Amino acid sequence: MIQRLAIIGVGLIGGSLALALRQGGACREVVGCGRNQANLDRALALGVIDRYTQDPAEAVAGADMVLVAVPLGAMRTVFEAMRPGLSPETVITDVGSAKASVVLDAQAAWGELPAGFVPGHPIAGTEQSGVEAAFATLYQGRRVILTPLATSGEEAVARVRSMWEVAGAVVESMSVAHHDEVLAATSHLPHMLAFGLVDSLARMRDNDEIFRYAAGGFRDFTRIASSDPVMWRDICLANRSALLDMMARYKEDLRLIEDAIEAADGEALLEIFTRAKAARDRFCG
Ligand code: NAP
Repeated sequence: MIQRLAIIGVGLIGGSLALALRQGGACREVVGCGRNQANLDRALALGVIDRYTQDPAEAVAGADMVLVAVPLGAMRTVFEAMRPGLSPETVITDVGSAKASVVLDAQAAWGELPAGFVPGHPIAGTEQSGVEAAFATLYQGRRVILTPLATSGEEAVARVRSMWEVAGAVVESMSVAHHDEVLAATSHLPHMLAFGLVDSLARMRDNDEIFRYAAGGFRDFTRIASSDPVMWRDICLANRSALLDMMARYKEDLRLIEDAIEAADGEALLEIFTRAKAARDRFCG
């Protein structure tokens, strides 16, 4: 049972966890924190939080669990602002989509990393943002990756793990560097392709016609280009090195398709598409 959960950034991700924990009876009180009073009033009205403050230090004071769910570019400022309210017993986790940058931000803000700090990342979400988009079942059956540090205490790791499990998630652990490489490949690169493709088509002459005839496949492929631009700017900047490696690799592979088309090499195309279909069918079943 969490006595007091402080959620810094009551949006889709933080709000959904609060709802799941409240519905699971795993949390006595939820204190919300953010910059925008209208958003916090809405969170209160929706029953996501019990009360709120706009001061991160006040929000975390007396909380036994703190979840930081702001965009990556705001992490350091929020960590710094929380500092006066933290106690050595506070368990602190975050949901940032890249992990090395969050650890660097925590080090810069706090100096020594507290034993209660356990970075994490739920592999769940939608292209919507804000507390209105939050729902209690977001984490049901979804994976949450924890990236415990050498400084993270065993008890803190266990408490963060069981919090996500109560929300319905399957929790796994990996190193910070491995997380950032895996997510560059599976999430960050696909978002770059979707944003890039839609922007490219939108800047073509006659783009009205192009979008008018765009059907299901285009919608499926580009849904994630409706994601929040600020969040994705921050993710690109936070995971630059791993993302650039993946983009370079992808450009080489795209070149193979381009070469095959140019050479009218149907065999090569068939080989690539057959291999891709088999891989997708196997993993996405
Ligand atoms: P969101 O719905 O926009 O919520 C973010 C919240 O953070 C907002 O309620 C906002 O409240 C607060 N915030 C924004 N900028 C801030 C700033 N500069 N300083 C302090 N607070 C700020 O976003 P989200 O989708 O929940 O994403 C939150 C985090 O989860 C991000 O780090 C993202 O990388 C990660 N994540 C997202 C997904 C996804 O699919 N969406 C999945 C996994 C992880 P105020 O405006 O009131 O301050």
